[in-house]
Amino acid sequence: MAKEKIILTGDRPTGKLHIGHYVGSLKRRVELQNSGLYDKIFIFIADAQALTDNIDNPEKVRQNVIEVALDYLACGLDPAKSTIFIQSQIPELCELTSYYMDLVTVSRLQRNPTVKTEIQMRNFETSIPVGFFTYPISQAADITAFRATTVPVGEDQEPMLEQAREIVRRFNNIYGETLIEPEILLPENAACLRLPGIDGKAKMSKSLGNCIYLSEEPDEIKKKIMSMYTDPGHIRINDPGKIENNTVFIYLDAFCKQEHFGRYLPDYNNLAELKAHYKRGGLGDVKVKCFLNAILQEELEPIRERRNKFSKDIPAIYEILKKGSETARATAADTLSEVRKAMKINYFDDLELISEQEKRYKSKQN
Ligand code: ATP
Ligand code: MG
Repeated sequence: MAKEKIILTGDRPTGKLHIGHYVGSLKRRVELQNSGLYDKIFIFIADAQALTDNIDNPEKVRQNVIEVALDYLACGLDPAKSTIFIQSQIPELCELTSYYMDLVTVSRLQRNPTVKTEIQMRNFETSIPVGFFTYPISQAADITAFRATTVPVGEDQEPMLEQAREIVRRFNNIYGETLIEPEILLPENAACLRLPGIDGKAKMSKSLGNCIYLSEEPDEIKKKIMSMYTDPGHIRINDPGKIENNTVFIYLDAFCKQEHFGRYLPDYNNLAELKAHYKRGGLGDVKVKCFLNAILQEELEPIRERRNKFSKDIPAIYEILKKGSETARATAADTLSEVRKAMKINYFDDLELISEQEKRYKSKQN
């Protein structure tokens, strides 16, 4: 039988989802969901992971579960095609995590570059919660519990995927072929790998407060775009401008399509022409920002409208999450039972073990 193609990915409920999530992973998930090429799709809200660095703020995590779920549905994730669930409702994941912990060294975890940056960002220094430090291991549990083959995520997740693959290889080596090695699926468009924040910082991130949220109102989107970081050396319109590290142009790389020029900026044929003019000098930031604003408004309006519709029936959203969590739990329990069997800790459902031991002792007694 051909290996099943299974997608797993998720988001931390530490805030509403932003356009970095959208281009880094969410948009792709919806395309993959609708492609019909995958046998199963699991999408989860990583509340247990969010608690690892928000342990004193459970209300924030609780409130954002529903926000993330609404963002999912607004973007087109469909519970009829994808299992959407809440991480903490699957206790099997904790058990898997604890077994995987024996397969990873402390120094291996310390080398994870994403975790290193996140520790700095959160000023943890010497007070790193153990659960936060080990979250790459619990992420390996999330991925393998659902036998995921494909994990569509942004570039910051690359070290997590590598860690998960190492755990799978080590586990299978010791205990026999049990777990599936997942593949990362990064955005094809380089600008989407790690979308910068509106402040020009390396990553748009809920924790940095430099985001344009998917649910943002039109005037707020415009205000944020107008305040965006561009080229600090481009002071007068006629000064030559830089495209590199210019957030407005990075967002255009991420969102602009050919047809947008006809609709919103007919003086130019394509992005290359617009960039060339900016570099030459004579093109002002405001004009470029207005163009970006038109594009983002067009992209976000239908998402916002669908979100508003879904938010009219909140109990139905919790019901989707509950059903999804039940389905997900059954799958995770199946994997856990295979893991226990492979690790030889399935004492009570292994009838052979009992009769073998019985025989061994009987032969001693005779
Ligand atoms: P937090 O600050 O709480 O970690 P976050 O904004 O980094 O939040 P996550 O929930 O950690 O968001 O990430 C969810 C998914 O979105 C991951 O696949 C991640 O790679 C992707 N992602 C997050 N931020 C970006 C970004 N700026 N560009 C591209 N992808 C992103
Ligand atoms: Mg993150």
